[in-house]
Amino acid sequence: MNAEPAPLPRLTSEFAHELPELSLPWSAAEFPDPKLLVLNEPLARELGLDPVLLRCEAGTASLLGARLAPGSEPVAQAYAGHQFGSYAPRLGDGRALLLGEIVDAGNRRRDLHLKGSGRTPFSRGADGFAAVGPMLREYLMGEAMHALGIPTTRALAVLGTGARVMRDESLDPLPGAVLVRTASSHLRVGSFQYARSLEKSDVLPRLVDFAIDRHCPEAAGAPQPALRLLRHVVEAQARLVAQWMLVGFVHGVMNTDNMTISGETIDYGPCAFIDAYDPAAAFSSIDWRGRYAYGKQPAIALWNLTRFAETLLVELADDGDTAIELAVGELDRFDALYAAAWGLGMAAKLGVAHAGPAVSAELHEIAAGLLAELQQHRIDYTNAFRALAGAARGDEGALLALYPGEAAPGEWYGRWRALRPDGDAMDAVNPLYIPRGRVVDDALGAATEGDLGPFEQLLDAVMRPYEARPGYERFAEPAPAGAPRFVTYCGT
Ligand code: AMP
Ligand code: MG
Repeated sequence: MNAEPAPLPRLTSEFAHELPELSLPWSAAEFPDPKLLVLNEPLARELGLDPVLLRCEAGTASLLGARLAPGSEPVAQAYAGHQFGSYAPRLGDGRALLLGEIVDAGNRRRDLHLKGSGRTPFSRGADGFAAVGPMLREYLMGEAMHALGIPTTRALAVLGTGARVMRDESLDPLPGAVLVRTASSHLRVGSFQYARSLEKSDVLPRLVDFAIDRHCPEAAGAPQPALRLLRHVVEAQARLVAQWMLVGFVHGVMNTDNMTISGETIDYGPCAFIDAYDPAAAFSSIDWRGRYAYGKQPAIALWNLTRFAETLLVELADDGDTAIELAVGELDRFDALYAAAWGLGMAAKLGVAHAGPAVSAELHEIAAGLLAELQQHRIDYTNAFRALAGAARGDEGALLALYPGEAAPGEWYGRWRALRPDGDAMDAVNPLYIPRGRVVDDALGAATEGDLGPFEQLLDAVMRPYEARPGYERFAEPAPAGAPRFVTYCGT
């Protein structure tokens, strides 16, 4: 028999098989009138998939989990999590499914995961669905982060379902969608919290082995594998959050169920990029206390890592005091790791990476001077670095134009120029196009009405963030002066 070419290859179901306590077998809902809205062709090729096959009807059915690839055994994953500091013992995939794992063209294993695929036993009263706007938002933000060189989960596709979802009693029902997400795994701090809570089972050590196999195989033969895993995650998260801070990214909902073991950014719900530099910037409508404000992210990351370390204590040593001492030894490295990653990144942003580690203290003072002025004058963070690159090339016009009235750069500026910054190197690391909140909202509003044009343009801009292109000027415009505070809503 001549088999039709399949849109998806054989998948593995390692997570489902090796950690059965951490998931429930489940199936995706059936949808009346599915339609592919966006397909990530570069990612499809990385995964060894054929975009032409994915665009066919069989491709749509495969992406939605309606037609299962061989080897696929979909499961809803179980996890716990601290949400805004309060512990929820059982969250889990309330509207998501892991279809299985795929080995990509670079021989790395990646999860293929659905979001918005219907209710599961973890739905806790919610509908299990997702609306087009938030799913396109996750696609866009993930690709923007990827283009900025920041580790992230990535969307392979967004499909309209043909169904409508109710989100707000006062609003009309919204068009529904499913996001097909890839990640090097969906293990979260909350996965370990959940596994740790299953005291009668031996799932925690198996989860440790699973995470090591996926994310730091070098730890497998080490004398203290769990300690090595902790070290690896502390390092990965310190680097990740430093990268967020350098681009002005505010995740918005850094609950422990939204922090990965891989060090990839996950769950683009209420996230946003800062406009003016402001450590207190918090955009999420539900984060009214600013727990997850821009400037608090490093401290929150360490708080989450501490929750992670707690789950591992029983694996670190038989004696509790020794285990705590070992864990604290790893957690104590976070601040220095973060500062080093941030310092290196800031040196690159300021075009003085060539000046070497000797300028480190000087660089911190220069950066502090700059950031204080950006905050004081409410100057756009992203645009400031592009303007500084111009100044490094001898054109101070754009930089001075950012300052209000008679104000001008202070003493840090002369010290910085004396380091002979490289303007072209700065343009290669400081984005011109980021997904700015209001622009994103407008594009998603249009997409919800059925016009994907603005979304596709914005996506194209942020996928090549460093290169100025005619017609894209509006994507580099700062928020209008005096605009009301930008607010994001949890992406359901
Ligand atoms: P998150 O927004 O990722 O922090 O989600 C927190 C929890 O809420 C997770 O367990 C999600 O699966 C669940 N959840 C969010 N939205 C929905 C929904 N529409 N239906 C069912 N569960 C949901
Ligand atoms: Mg989540």
